[in-house]
Amino acid sequence: MSEIFTIGLTGGIASGKSTAQAAFEALGVPVLDADIVAREVVMPGAPALAQIAEVFGAQMLHADGTLDRAAMRARVFGNPEELKRLEAITHPHIRVRMLEWKAAQRAPYCIISVAILLEAKMTDLVDRVLLIDTSEQAQRARLRQRDGISDALIDQMLAAQWSRQQRLAQSQDVLCNAGELAAIADGVRQLHGFYLEIEAQGQRDAPGVRHACP
Ligand code: ADP
Repeated sequence: MSEIFTIGLTGGIASGKSTAQAAFEALGVPVLDADIVAREVVMPGAPALAQIAEVFGAQMLHADGTLDRAAMRARVFGNPEELKRLEAITHPHIRVRMLEWKAAQRAPYCIISVAILLEAKMTDLVDRVLLIDTSEQAQRARLRQRDGISDALIDQMLAAQWSRQQRLAQSQDVLCNAGELAAIADGVRQLHGFYLEIEAQGQRDAPGVRHACP
């Protein structure tokens, strides 16, 4: 049997990925959130945690043996070399779990939601990439409102991610989330019908449905 048809859902920070993800789930589509997998692979007893302690030192762990996420974040934030070392430990474990999850799904198609799908070169795990597109202006406004983050930190976070143009160039399907929040559900419903149809027709690489933001 061939592997399950898999869509990689991605987008910049506060683009609306979680919102789109929930809309797909409401339609019965199995969705795997990479953020959750990333937490699982560093839980006590998981192999990545021991490797982190080995490479970065035991001071990255709390006294109870769990990962000190704040210490780890402080170590890698704004330090690409250290981030690369951390990802070299965690990403292989994340990839294995994603493959296992895919193999267990019984549905016409499934979704893996990964903020850094393109940056981390995880596109080989999916058949198509669906980008939730939005303007930088909207990202900034949502980050300020949702997380109360300062403008300086927002600048830093956005600078660390790929640009809209880079994402648009590497995504087959694009859904704009710049207007009403409720509009995402309509776009998701349309894409759901499209994915079911191309899977039924054996056309997983059909031309994209592209509704980029103006
Ligand atoms: P992501 O998962 O990409 O970080 P979210 O789906 O969590 O993004 O959206 C970020 C924040 O912006 C959330 O608080 C969400 O409710 C809000 N949001 C998303 N899309 C819109 C929109 N079109 N209009 C208004 N608020 C939005």
